[in-house]
Amino acid sequence: MRIIELEKDILLYQFKPDDKDGFLGLNIFVVINGNECTVVETGFKRHFIQVLKNLKEKDITISNVIQTHFHPDHIGGIPLVEKAKIYGSIFAQDTLKKYVERYNKYLPTNVVVDKTKLQFGRHKFEIEVNTGHSKDGLLITLNDKYIFVGDEIILDNKGNASIPYCSEKDPQAHINSINKIMSRIKINVTVLPTHGSPLVDKDHIINDLVKRLTYLHFINENRTASYDDFVKATNVRFLGRDWHILNQIDS
Ligand SMILES: [Zn+2]
Repeated sequence: MRIIELEKDILLYQFKPDDKDGFLGLNIFVVINGNECTVVETGFKRHFIQVLKNLKEKDITISNVIQTHFHPDHIGGIPLVEKAKIYGSIFAQDTLKKYVERYNKYLPTNVVVDKTKLQFGRHKFEIEVNTGHSKDGLLITLNDKYIFVGDEIILDNKGNASIPYCSEKDPQAHINSINKIMSRIKINVTVLPTHGSPLVDKDHIINDLVKRLTYLHFINENRTASYDDFVKATNVRFLGRDWHILNQIDS
């Protein structure tokens, strides 16, 4: 685990891929106000234990948790958090039921239906639905500067794009979510994916989003096409091509 200070009081706990064939890392974010913090994402349990240990050493307690969505690699720390408010989508339960047996331990206490705000000391969080990767997706903006995109943008820890994953097999929803992110991109905005390095360069961010849109439009119009069909038609490539079949509809 590496702790990266994005700026004073805004920390990224960055984990490397933890199996030898994997290429995706994982991020947990901690936003500090005095001796309290708001956490965005809680990883797998094994990641969150390390974050908790570090916070304890710093004498910082967790007041809020905000989840971009409720897939298993994002929620592992929720049962370890005591007394904090857990912000999550109204559709959290639907997603949890698909992946987790005793899902009651992971449910949000503060349900987001459309959008909400959280003022935390000097920090302003704006939370809104964004349902491309998953139907319970939330987009979180911090201080008009940082955008937590969850798995709407998946990268490796060097910033290379991994293939979009439409877990509801709905490419149109994912097109909409990428367009929403695109509309928020301006100079000095940092995109914070849950997997992969932060993106700070505006051109890099826009290129990444355009590449995703190219893919999503292609599969939206060609629901049975293979990954190779996509590369042939567009000359665009991604890491994680094995996930393509998860987006596809069987021919
Ligand atoms: Zn994930």
